[in-house]
Amino acid sequence: MSGFNQPISGNDLARFSGPGTFMRLPSETRLNGLDVAVLGIPMDIGTSWRSGTRFGPKQIRAESAMIRPYNMATGAAPFDCLQVADIGDLAINTFSLPESYRIISESYDAILKRKVMPMAMGGDHSITLPILRSVARRYGPVALVHVDAHADVNDEMFGVRETHGTVFRRAWEEGLILPDKTYQIGLRGTGYAASDFAEAQGWGFQQFPAHELWGRVLSELGQEIRRDIGDLPTYISFDIDSLDPAYAPGTGTPEIGGLTTPQALQLIRALQGVNVVGCDLVEVSPPYDTSGNTALTGANILYEMLCILPGVKAR
Ligand code: MN
Ligand code: MN
Repeated sequence: MSGFNQPISGNDLARFSGPGTFMRLPSETRLNGLDVAVLGIPMDIGTSWRSGTRFGPKQIRAESAMIRPYNMATGAAPFDCLQVADIGDLAINTFSLPESYRIISESYDAILKRKVMPMAMGGDHSITLPILRSVARRYGPVALVHVDAHADVNDEMFGVRETHGTVFRRAWEEGLILPDKTYQIGLRGTGYAASDFAEAQGWGFQQFPAHELWGRVLSELGQEIRRDIGDLPTYISFDIDSLDPAYAPGTGTPEIGGLTTPQALQLIRALQGVNVVGCDLVEVSPPYDTSGNTALTGANILYEMLCILPGVKAR
């Protein structure tokens, strides 16, 4: 067998035991030799309604213990192709969002400098802004696939400009993303003004509201996005509240009428071949996740994103 890290098999050690890392991968403190670093950003001080996403990484890791290494639908074998490890949680400052932003950016600068691909477990969606700042420092403005019930393009919340609801306006203002290669998928719910989403369309964002996707297979949309992106460096930010609360109730700002779990899989799998340079899965709030299904789904979506990273062989 290759020298790549492997998740501990459920046939070697019972799944309910062993390390509490993502998929029971080795835990690493050094970035040397890694292709992919899975990390937790346990934070909920950027959120506006229910809190609890500070417990997200821990619970996603716990539910990920059941995921096996091979993707039976796509044939992807990420652990035969990439060196993956769980590098633990960032030591954010739970009393200061600006200080946490600084810590996230510095950590990401170090990860990206080593040419390691970061896969983040949130945390509320505010984590994505300092991440994108680092990503843009490394790659320039990137294409963005943003799956979410919300556009997260508010200007301020209570006068604060850096929150989980303002991330993508800031990213646009700061030139971190390519506006006409920004795809917002799953938007829905109620707004403060009828123009809430439309303003971002004026910047060039391509929006795909949930109601236009109801009952549709999303493979085709994913393929269209892939073709439109070409080989541009691309960041994927997946807010678990893009899914209907029936599938993902454990989240801070649930909205009815969302995407289904199969639609999420269709979308992500169709993005295989995109030049992904980083991704995150945010807004899992375990206190509202009584069945554990939200964290389980989040863990599997992270696995599916791992399966489409550059260098992973699939059928
Ligand atoms: Mn969001
Ligand atoms: Mn959201």
